[in-house]
Amino acid sequence: MQNLDTKVVCLGTQGVGKTSIVMRYVGKMFSNNVNPTIGASFFTFRMNIENYRVQLQLWDTAGQERFRSMAPMYYRNANAALVVYDITEANSLDLAKDWVKELQQNVEHNIAMCLIGNKSDLDEHRQVTTEEGKEYADSINAIFVETSAKENTGVKEAFLQITQELIKRH
Ligand code: GDP
Ligand code: MG
Repeated sequence: MQNLDTKVVCLGTQGVGKTSIVMRYVGKMFSNNVNPTIGASFFTFRMNIENYRVQLQLWDTAGQERFRSMAPMYYRNANAALVVYDITEANSLDLAKDWVKELQQNVEHNIAMCLIGNKSDLDEHRQVTTEEGKEYADSINAIFVETSAKENTGVKEAFLQITQELIKRH
């Protein structure tokens, strides 16, 4: 067994479902232990996969993403970023693209990215097609998954795929 300790951050505008996705994945209430300097909280999640003992340090914002900027110390040493938008809000994909640009400008290493189109249960209100999300993800070399934190679809898959990518890069 090898050890892999990684930091994963969630990015995306307020209301897209970042906290719901993380809570759905970790299966319990997210830590309300907010780091006052960064204004974010983290949860440590452990799993064994492909001969690796993986420890994911999963970071979520505490609402300051509404100011459209995160302290670079939130993501600068992250190994992976989950960039989330809401499929029923076209604007949230534009804002996700801004986060990606910010990462590309401020992170020196090659950070693994997973673009997540959340709220797939609200298909009748969809404003962003699956193809559009997938195409953008391909253009930035990101994994792409549509999820519903509400119905628990795609969430495990998103984390599995990003973890496999991190293992591949290790
Ligand atoms: P955050 O600001 O990105 O952390 O978003 P939250 O996790 O706080 O979610 C914002 C709102 O969207 C809440 O009312 C959630 O219940 C709702 N929400 C989150 N995920 C889903 C989803 O997959 N489907 C639906 N229908 N609502 C969701
Ligand atoms: Mg939140």
